[in-house]
Amino acid sequence: MTISLIENPQDFIRVTDIKEYTFCPRIYYYEACLPGLHHHTVKTLAGQEAHERERALANRRTLAAFGLTEGESYFDVPVHSEAYQVIGEIDQVIICLDEAIPVDFKNTTRLGYQFKLQLTAYGLLLAESQRQTVRRGFFYLIPEHRAEELIFTAKLQRSAAKALETMREIVIAERVPPPTRYQDRCLTCKYRRFCNDV
Ligand code: SF4
Repeated sequence: MTISLIENPQDFIRVTDIKEYTFCPRIYYYEACLPGLHHHTVKTLAGQEAHERERALANRRTLAAFGLTEGESYFDVPVHSEAYQVIGEIDQVIICLDEAIPVDFKNTTRLGYQFKLQLTAYGLLLAESQRQTVRRGFFYLIPEHRAEELIFTAKLQRSAAKALETMREIVIAERVPPPTRYQDRCLTCKYRRFCNDV
C-alpha cells in the first residue's frame, strides 16, 4: 500500500480532533488555537494504554473478525489529505482486492456520532491516498472483542468533509466559534471558565 508522508505536519489539522469539534466547536478552538490549555486526563491516559495493548493483540487477530476472507492488514498507517489539509493515523487498514477498509480501535461500547464522523474522515483520507474504493470501515470495540461495521453513506461523507473544512477555517482565522447548542454539555466542560456567554 502507499504510505502517506508529508514534510510539514504542523501545517495540517488532525482528524482525531474531529471528536472535540463535534462535541463543541469551541473546545476545538481552545485546543487548536490556544496551545498549552490542553491536558491529558486519567481517563484519556487509561484509554491510550488499552489502545496499545489492543494494538499488540491485533497482529494475531484474523480477518474473520471482520467477516473477510481475504485482505492484507497494515497497522498505524499515516494518511493525509492535501484537499482538506488534514493528517491522521489509522489503527489498522485492510487492503482487499476491490476496497480499502479503515479500522478504528475503540475502548468503549458506545459509538457516538463523533466516532462515526472520525472513522468516515479516515475513509476520506484513505481514499485520497490509496486511490482505491473506500465504502466502509470498522470499529473494533476493545471491551467486547468484536468488530462493528460502519457504511460511509453520502450523508456521513458530506458531514465529515464539512467538519474538516470548518475546523480548518477556525484555525486559519483563529475565530472563536459560537457555543454548543446543547448547553448541558457546558456543565462539566473543563473550558467553562473561558466561556462567559453560556
Ligand atoms: S463551556 Fe460549553 S460552549 Fe464553552 S467550550 Fe465548553 S461545551 Fe463549549
